[in-house]
Amino acid sequence: MTQEEEILIMPGAWNLPFRHTAGRFASRFFRELRDNKKIFGVRCPECRRVLLPPRPLCERCFVSTDEWVEMGHQGTLEAFTICYVPFLGLPPPPIATIMVKLDGANTCLSHVMGGVDLSDVEKAKDLVKIGMRVEAVWRDERKGEISDIQYFRPVA
Ligand SMILES: [Zn+2]
Repeated sequence: MTQEEEILIMPGAWNLPFRHTAGRFASRFFRELRDNKKIFGVRCPECRRVLLPPRPLCERCFVSTDEWVEMGHQGTLEAFTICYVPFLGLPPPPIATIMVKLDGANTCLSHVMGGVDLSDVEKAKDLVKIGMRVEAVWRDERKGEISDIQYFRPVA
């Protein structure tokens, strides 16, 4: 092929619903959410960090993890963004997507904030703050997925 050849662009749309195994670590993590309302991470045997969500390998030390550690249901808000436009797979806006470091964890869990009125962006800036304490709110009917924790709300 030379640079003079015309490259055609073909329009298209892919819709590929599929199912796959969650794997051993994610399966246990989601089973604990569903069956016991417990949040588990894993500890790295080298650096001793507790990784959440649990994963079979510490990305820092490149060693296998196998010590399961139960996390608290409260944590500290490490980062957030407030969205006023809809995103596929997320609740309707306005919504605050957050990174929360649960008590006992060294890494953050990505989730959503609830229990705060985000409708006014100026007021929302005062309601959601880095460093604030948050806690998990559980769904009554859990399915073994991350939304079994419905959202994290400010600790009263
Ligand atoms: Zn490590």
